[in-house]
Amino acid sequence: MESCPVCGENTKDKAGTIEYTFEEKKLKFCSLTCLRIFQQFPEIYMNEKEDDINILEDSRA
Ligand SMILES: [Zn+2]
Repeated sequence: MESCPVCGENTKDKAGTIEYTFEEKKLKFCSLTCLRIFQQFPEIYMNEKEDDINILEDSRA
């Protein structure tokens, strides 16, 4: 599966894709714009593939 983690666009046969390694995972971005978005909020895009998402609950109740 080769698609841009940010916008989901297919990067397989696309010119100008950018390869980027994040935490030993090789990612392919369709454009520098998407890479910059990812770099600002990497946890948003990486969390989608992980099950252990912690939701902070309000414990004041
Ligand atoms: Zn993209």
